[in-house]
Amino acid sequence: MAIERTLSIIKPDGVERNLVGKVIGRFEEEGLLPVAMRMVHLSQREAEGFYAVHKERPFFDSLVEFMTRSPVVVMVLEGDDAIARNREIMGATDPAEADEGTLRKLYASGIEENTVHGSDSPENAAKEINYFFSDVQVFPRG
Ligand code: ADP
Ligand code: MG
Repeated sequence: MAIERTLSIIKPDGVERNLVGKVIGRFEEEGLLPVAMRMVHLSQREAEGFYAVHKERPFFDSLVEFMTRSPVVVMVLEGDDAIARNREIMGATDPAEADEGTLRKLYASGIEENTVHGSDSPENAAKEINYFFSDVQVFPRG
């Protein structure tokens, strides 16, 4: 397995419910270490750009409204197989379908307010990391 980087976001529902420490603690326990991190209140334009792949979906406007409701924590996680591992730790998009012990099973209140985002492929991880961070803002741990 290779060391990878992935983009993680603690969404507004997670920050609002004081879950930042719990979520980051879980990533650290699992060996996915933050190498860049920032709190940001996304503008409509920033949220629309981030989720541009979903712009034709019926939930797009609602998703953008949710993601701009209050600040989020954006971070880059680094570790072995980080992209897939993060998706496993997050669980399925819909918490009703998420495995026991996953972050979404533990914390998400619904399919939209599902507490965390994680890149789904190496291509998207690179794109999403670039969307929020420049190289000088990333601090390798290895
Ligand atoms: P994931 O975040 O698991 O990669 P998607 O990329 O399919 O899921 O969707 C992006 C985000 O859009 C989800 O995390 C969730 O916040 C929201 N979302 C997805 N499907 C729905 C839906 N059917 N209704 C409302 N919101 C949704
Ligand atoms: Mg996705």
